[in-house]
Amino acid sequence: MSGKGKEYSFLLPLYFMLLGVIIVLSGALLIMGLKASGENTLDATIYTTLGVAGFFFAFYSIQEARKRMKLLKKKKGRIMTVIKCKKCNHVYEREFKEGDYVYKNAGDCPQCGGNSFIFLIYAFREDKKGIT
Ligand SMILES: [Zn+2]
Repeated sequence: MSGKGKEYSFLLPLYFMLLGVIIVLSGALLIMGLKASGENTLDATIYTTLGVAGFFFAFYSIQEARKRMKLLKKKKGRIMTVIKCKKCNHVYEREFKEGDYVYKNAGDCPQCGGNSFIFLIYAFREDKKGIT
């Protein structure tokens, strides 16, 4: 038995494949409906209705997937690095860079030119409104 996360990543391409099949089938049904419209009106109505319903289902599913992806992006967090000067205690922060760690030398202080170091690193989650 595999974990739920792995199952989900496996199901996602399958889900899109299924959507593709539904779209193709809906198109085929619509074509069949149009072809049958001259001869058999009942068949034509059934095919066309199924085709249109299939298209609506596919588009609705794509819209739902887009909404979920947008929500996931909004929940993305940020990591900040706080730098402190050894000489004048000036504190400032910037976005976390790869290789940052606490007590690492952070170069010259922008205020007095003294030695500064990484004082702390923290992460926070951006809410829906974001940070201005
Ligand atoms: Zn300083």
